Amino acid sequence: MADVILVINAGSSSIKFSAFDVEGSRLDLVTRGQVEGLFSSPHFVAYNADGEKAGEHNWGEGAQLDHAGAIAHLGAFLRGHEAGHHLIGVGHRVVHGGAHFTKPVLANAQVLDELDKLTPLAPLHQPHNLKPIRIIAERNPDLPQVACFDTAFHASQTTLAQAFALPESITKNGVRRYGFHGLSYEYIASVLPEVAPAAARGRTVVAHLGNGASLCALDAGKSVASTMGFTAVDGLMMGTRCGNLDPGVILYMFDELGMNAREIEDLLYRGSGLLGVSGVSGDMRALLASQDERARFAIDLYVYRIGRELGSMSAALQGLDAVVFTAGIGEHSKEIRQRVCEQAAWWGIEFDPAANGRGDACISKPSSKVSAWVIPTNEELMIARHTQALI
Ligand code: ADP
Repeated sequence: MADVILVINAGSSSIKFSAFDVEGSRLDLVTRGQVEGLFSSPHFVAYNADGEKAGEHNWGEGAQLDHAGAIAHLGAFLRGHEAGHHLIGVGHRVVHGGAHFTKPVLANAQVLDELDKLTPLAPLHQPHNLKPIRIIAERNPDLPQVACFDTAFHASQTTLAQAFALPESITKNGVRRYGFHGLSYEYIASVLPEVAPAAARGRTVVAHLGNGASLCALDAGKSVASTMGFTAVDGLMMGTRCGNLDPGVILYMFDELGMNAREIEDLLYRGSGLLGVSGVSGDMRALLASQDERARFAIDLYVYRIGRELGSMSAALQGLDAVVFTAGIGEHSKEIRQRVCEQAAWWGIEFDPAANGRGDACISKPSSKVSAWVIPTNEELMIARHTQALI
């Protein structure tokens, strides 16, 4: 009977999952999928390891399926799909570990209470990340569950790199830079020694370019700086988030535009970035296909902002040996990779268009002073590895 580890990434309206067979120290994906549209128009879909559809269910428009209902459906699906398999643990993506949780942890009741207290630091994500842990614990109190944090990988950063120039009366509440996408960066750091040994030993900037986007400066595989700070809205321009912004703009929105905190939050998280600037879409594919001038400007700004922040990360590293592209845009958009590399030619990146076109892992020329790479991320596998290690 094969042991199985389940990985859950829960948001406000969706639960993504992956299940891995445990074969000694090996973890093999057996199924993955998601329940989307909770509380509105719920839809479940699952695929097997080859990407073929393995299950699907529609609850219909307006069906009030909540997280507990979705978990129950997922459990029933896994029992059917994984007939004879044995669930030995569940790993969860949890956005915030705060200052205290700097590595994955077994999520017992006491830990969950501690993690609840971090909700003010990530109100849009933390409660939804924790909900499934409680739901599963109620039904299976003996099943080990592991919380893996998006912030933990950045705990290696110095106090200086984490600090804001604010008085202690504010910073003592935990107001500092944490950094996110840590599980993605940790996965990249774990495969770099095999894919690009010199980059693994050297000064490497990883660009996680998905709907959310950030850069991480890795010095010999350790995070020394990141573009995301106190929240995941800082740094790069993203799909719908603004990234780095003069705080004075927020005061202007309060005082002059009469916007309240919730309206500003909605604008910064869901109405800015590629979507806000283009007025067309927050999806890079749609913008690349668009002839609209504003779509072009949004892409120009996206690339420009990466270049500016690449400079900041490289300064933190005191130089640059390699750049790695990952996540949706980084893995799939040849055009964005090319533009970012060409813009950074002054760093000594000799871009190789043929290698980029072929989809090679290395997209810089052999003579390039700074090498450039494309490495698919795998946050779910990283969570499964942590879960396996802890249970
Ligand atoms: P998330 O952060 O939600 O996990 P992804 O990592 O899947 O998101 O990234 C989503 C982004 O990747 C979207 O902007 C999408 O348009 C972009 N993307 C995916 N495939 C391509 C492609 N072939 N060309 C350009 N952009 C792509």
